[in-house]
Amino acid sequence: MRQWGLTFYIRVNLQGSFHTYPDVGGPFPSLQETHNAIDRHLEGRWHPKLRMGPDDNVSTMDKVIRRCLYWPDGRIKRHTKSSSTRAANKRMHQFIQALVDKYNDDHNLLGDLALKLKDVLHYQPICENHIWYYHLNFTAKTKEADGLHSTSDNLFFVEVKRMGIGNYEEMLFSCFCMVNPDNGKPCKGCTNNGTVDMKHPDTDEYFAGHLDAYLPFGCFGKWSDSDDDDKYVKAREAKLRHMYELTVMRFACLAEFGCLEIINFCGLNACTTPVCT
Ligand SMILES: [Zn+2]
Repeated sequence: MRQWGLTFYIRVNLQGSFHTYPDVGGPFPSLQETHNAIDRHLEGRWHPKLRMGPDDNVSTMDKVIRRCLYWPDGRIKRHTKSSSTRAANKRMHQFIQALVDKYNDDHNLLGDLALKLKDVLHYQPICENHIWYYHLNFTAKTKEADGLHSTSDNLFFVEVKRMGIGNYEEMLFSCFCMVNPDNGKPCKGCTNNGTVDMKHPDTDEYFAGHLDAYLPFGCFGKWSDSDDDDKYVKAREAKLRHMYELTVMRFACLAEFGCLEIINFCGLNACTTPVCT
């Protein structure tokens, strides 16, 4: 959902039903019905000032600027470290919940026997040979082996491989296991990129992290934490208006001299693209 700056995860259970994270109802019998439910969910989140049509009294410049400054639900498009971290934590919690539910479903772990996600501890994207992976640590409640009703918190490691490109990606887990926090093999993919506390299995059950690789340059963009939201919006709006006016002036000059050229508003559109987190 690039237009909304949101990510939805879809899990298919063994019966072929579709579940969404975050939850928008369901389970749904088909992918198409899942998409329809997500569309209905988003439809209800439009901010009135951002639902702009051809017949309203808002100028083209104001429409462009609003779309550059805000997501459709009214959130400010701003890449601060704190807001990006909060959003990434929330997204990862939903992602790992989907993985845990998938694991429980695949292993027929029901009721007390099911893993129950507790805390998301670490997540690290890794890129090796143009393939993207995630390494993840989280704690989950598991039933004790004594067969009684006692439970304990255990540390888990999951490796996920990302398949596909564009708006849709398939996530395949290649390793899902409990780990001992005092043992485990070193992983260059995590340590090279700053996640030194990630705990890995002590076997070769996972694929990524063995090469001395770093994340591609430019994957993480500039933070804009220095100003508060109001100050940021005012400064950004003034800059966008200036850019828009320059572009319109250039178009007027070209028309004057009889040149036919399509003006590319790349300077304005660039601000709508969040960097990957
Ligand atoms: Zn790792």
